[in-house]
Amino acid sequence: MLAMPDIAFQQCIGTDCAARFDIGQILFSCPECGSLLDVRYDWSRTEVPKSLSLFGSRRGTSSGNAEARLNASGVWRFRELLPFCPLDDMVTAGEGQTQLQHADALAGELGVDAGRLFLQYEGFNPSGSFKDNGMAAAFTMARRLGCTRVACASTGNTSASLAMFARHTKTKSGASMEAIVFVGGGKIALGKLAQALDYGATTIQIAGDFDACMRIAEQTADQLGLYLMNSVNPFRLEGQKTIMYRVLEGLNWEVPDWIIVPGGNLGNSSAFGKAFAELRELGLIDRIPRLAIINAAGANTLCQLVNEHGVRYNGGRVDTNRIEGYYKKMNAEGTRAKTVASAIEIGRPVNLIKALRSLEVMDGVVEQVNDAEILDGKALVGKYGYGCEPASGASVAGLRKLIDEKMIAPSDRVVCILTGHALKDPNATIDYHSGARQKHARFANPPTSCAADFDAVARLIGGAR
Ligand SMILES: *Cc1c(COP(=O)(O)O)cnc(C)c1O
Ligand SMILES: [Zn+2]
Repeated sequence: MLAMPDIAFQQCIGTDCAARFDIGQILFSCPECGSLLDVRYDWSRTEVPKSLSLFGSRRGTSSGNAEARLNASGVWRFRELLPFCPLDDMVTAGEGQTQLQHADALAGELGVDAGRLFLQYEGFNPSGSFKDNGMAAAFTMARRLGCTRVACASTGNTSASLAMFARHTKTKSGASMEAIVFVGGGKIALGKLAQALDYGATTIQIAGDFDACMRIAEQTADQLGLYLMNSVNPFRLEGQKTIMYRVLEGLNWEVPDWIIVPGGNLGNSSAFGKAFAELRELGLIDRIPRLAIINAAGANTLCQLVNEHGVRYNGGRVDTNRIEGYYKKMNAEGTRAKTVASAIEIGRPVNLIKALRSLEVMDGVVEQVNDAEILDGKALVGKYGYGCEPASGASVAGLRKLIDEKMIAPSDRVVCILTGHALKDPNATIDYHSGARQKHARFANPPTSCAADFDAVARLIGGAR
C-alpha cells in the first residue's frame, strides 16, 4: 500500500463493474472486466482550494526551494487537483510552462471574431509536445512503485517525452530509469526519433504501424515487468488534465465555449472531460465548455463510430458490439490508418470509451479533416507566428470546418490545442512549402533560388525602400 490510499484509488470505468483497486497495484485495465481504469479521489479527505485563482498565484514565486520548483511546473502547480502523491515524490522537468496565446490575426483568417480565438501552445513543453504533462505524473508513479524500467509504444512524441523524463527521474536506488521505446519502422517523424536517440533510450523500430507497436509494448510490459507509459496508464491522464487548468488560467478562470483538440489515442480528449467533470463536482466552475475532437480523415475511427454508427457513451452503457463490428470490418478490409499527421495515425484508439465519456460530459462533437486541410491548418498556424506539427494543424483545420458548418459561431470563445512543436516534423513542412505537396498547398512559401550577385538579389526583393 502506498502513502495516500485513502484519498486516491483506481477504479474501473465499466459502469456495471466499477471495481476499485489500490493505486499501488500496477494495472492498465480492470482485471475483472478488462475496461480502462480511472484514478479517482475521495475529495472529502483532501483539501482543495475554494477558488481556482490560488493556483495562479503560485506562479512566479520561485525562491529556489523544492516547492517553488513544483510551483513553476504547469502540472504540479495544480497538485491538489491530482492528489495521488506527496510533495516529495513529484517528478518535474519543467513541464507545462505553456501559454495561452491570443491569436487575433489567425482568428480573422478563420472567420472567428477578434479576441475570441486562443491557442494553447503545448509545443512549448521541454520535449516539444503536450506529452510532458502526462509523463510528469506517470514518472512520479513509476518511482513511487519502485519501477526501474519504463516503456511505451509511440508515434514519436511519447517516446521523446519518456526518453527525456527517464533522465530526470531517479529510481529509489538512485540510478536513472531505463527507457525502452517501440516505434513504427520508418513512420516516425525525424525530430522525434532524434530525441529518443539523443536522450539515450533503447529505441526499437517495429516492422509495423502504431497499433502493432502497442500490442508488442503491452505484451512486453506484461511479461517482462516494464512499467507501461502509454495513455492506458491512468496517471498520465491525470497530468494531462492540467492543460485545461492552464487554459482556464489564461482566460482569468473564465470557461471558454469550445475546446478543439486533435484525436489520436484520445488521451487528451479523455483527460479534458475528466478535468471539467471534477472541477464541476468540486464547485470550482459552473459551466463546462464544448469539446470538438478532430480526426484525420485517414484515421477516423472515432468520427466513423460516433457520426456514422451512432455510438454514444450512454451513461456508461456503450454499445460495444457496434465497436467490435467496426473493428472486424476494418480487419477484413485490411484498413490501416494513414495520414501525414503521424501523431494521430491510429486506427484503434486505446482511450475510445473514455473519449466517448468526455463527449457526453462536454456535449462534444467529432469532425474529420483530410491531409491537405491539416497541412493548410498547420501552415496558417506558422504563418501567424506560432508553428506546430501536422497533427496540431488538425485542430485549426477542424475549427475552420466547424465554422463553415455553423456548429461554431464567430462570436464563440474558442481554444485550439497545439499539441506539438513545428520542429518535430521538418520534412512535412518542407514538402508542403517546396516539395511533393506544394501543388495542393494554399499557403506555400517556397524558397527562391538566386545567383550570388547583388543586382540579382536587388531585382528579386525590389530595391531600397
Ligand atoms: C500524441 C499526440 C496527439 C494525439 O493525442 P491523443 O491524446 O493520443 O489523442 C496529437 N498531437 C501530437 C503532437 C501528439 O504528440
Ligand atoms: Zn471492471
